[in-house]
Amino acid sequence: MSRKFDVVVIGAGPAGYVAAIRAAQHGLSTACIDAWQNPDGSTVFGGTCLNAGCIPSKALLESSELYHRAQQEFSAHGIGVGELALDLATMQARKASIVRDLSGGIGALFKANGVTGLFGHGRLLPDQKVQYTPHAGEPELLEAEHVVLATGSTPVELSAALFDGERIVDSQGALEFDAVPQRLGVIGAGVIGLELGSVWQRLGAEVTIVEAMDQFLFMADAQIAREAQRQFKKQGLDIRLGAMVRATEITDAGVILKYDDEQGGHEITVDKVIVAVGRRPATGNLLDPLAGVDVSERGFVEVDSECRTTALNVWAVGDVVRGPMLAHKGSEEGVMVADLIAGDVTEVNYDVIPSVIYTAPEIAWVGKTEEELKKAGVAFKSGTFNFAASGRAKAMDQDAGLVKIVASATTDRILGVHICGPMAGELIGEGVLAMEFQASTEDLQRTIHGHPTLTEAVHEAALAVDRRAIHAINR
Ligand SMILES: Cc1cc2nc3c(=O)[nH]c(=O)nc-3n(C[C@H](O)[C@H](O)[C@H](O)COP(=O)(O)OP(=O)(O)OC[C@H]3O[C@@H](n4cnc5c(N)ncnc54)[C@H](O)[C@@H]3O)c2cc1C
Repeated sequence: MSRKFDVVVIGAGPAGYVAAIRAAQHGLSTACIDAWQNPDGSTVFGGTCLNAGCIPSKALLESSELYHRAQQEFSAHGIGVGELALDLATMQARKASIVRDLSGGIGALFKANGVTGLFGHGRLLPDQKVQYTPHAGEPELLEAEHVVLATGSTPVELSAALFDGERIVDSQGALEFDAVPQRLGVIGAGVIGLELGSVWQRLGAEVTIVEAMDQFLFMADAQIAREAQRQFKKQGLDIRLGAMVRATEITDAGVILKYDDEQGGHEITVDKVIVAVGRRPATGNLLDPLAGVDVSERGFVEVDSECRTTALNVWAVGDVVRGPMLAHKGSEEGVMVADLIAGDVTEVNYDVIPSVIYTAPEIAWVGKTEEELKKAGVAFKSGTFNFAASGRAKAMDQDAGLVKIVASATTDRILGVHICGPMAGELIGEGVLAMEFQASTEDLQRTIHGHPTLTEAVHEAALAVDRRAIHAINR
């Protein structure tokens, strides 16, 4: 006899496990199936984000940043640390223990909320039925009123640089190096390439990032992207734009990375290559052809603005559907879908999704860029404030970068907040909240910010929109 649930979720990454918990909070009987297996065969919930993405990368970014600061910056504070030593095994063990704690926590949350967690593969059959196949065991039929697809994404492989798991690796492999490569090549100067390149550069690798596009961080505000590029250059990160990788060759001397740019063909020899050229939706063996779920040409499950697929009572959320591949976007979709299933009226505000790049300085933004507003013919005004004039940033010895706010020239409503600087990923929260509440720059101008804090830079940028900044010359 098949087990019956109100909701079956396939995938327990940040989109799926959040959907499952919220569905259970509504009193719906819920199961969540996840196929993730660690290299040692162990099973965990949490998906890419917890096990091979957001969390392990941030653990290593934090450790490598501390190492870098101890090496380069402590002396300016009058702190001598003698000869600095790097114990990469301990650094990696710390990262693994954070991942273990957090992914183990999902199992505990499932238990506390009454979610049935199932390890194995899920496949959608017609009529909201799911074939669940445990890693070791016979397939079982699950019946559901609603099914939520949340199977996430996997790294894109380049035919010119096929993964060998040793010298040419994906982002997961790049989080597991057991020694700092002397020379590291990174293909792709997107979020993941920049973050992983930064980790290994701070730990001593000579890093070259090769990017096919001519423009650095095309999705960010151009002024912010320029500032970030300037800072990375100063740090010695070698970023080559307009460079199309043609081939790689593994030799005894290292991996020869061959690329073309407008000057012609080039070769660099490195010890390891990280391929970070994007991720593709994971739908392999997920959908029975008769299940009625349409998939786009690029492999995304087709959904409407409420994440309904083309099959009745089948929903899809997270990286497997359109939109930015971000954990928090997937989680909010998961919450929305569970609420809709429970009969609530709700929506995701896709206009206000923050993006964060955890480099040093961090880069974060929400809303429209100046370039997008110009292209759309929207009359806007903007203000900037440099961290060089922030007392807190100076005290932290991290005064590179700026905050930029763009607002409607007619209504004063904030249309975008863009930051390159210390703790930008935390500071952007104020911009997100302001935009969610449809605040004007005057609202931010009249909001009292603690002194001395980095948030004062956001306050001053809002003032600068109307040429009223106090700690900067208004031009
Ligand atoms: C190195 C790196 C760093 C990142 N850093 C950030 C960051 O700082 N902030 C951020 O917002 N995003 C970050 N991301 C992106 C983020 O990890 C993803 O956007 C997020 O994990 C997507 O969540 P998801 O639930 O849709 O899918 P996933 O997290 O990919 O989870 C999907 C789960 O479904 C399982 N699954 C797949 N198919 C099946 C099946 N048929 N049956 C059962 N289970 C299945 C998979 O095994 C997986 O466990 C990063 C990604 C990487 C690679």
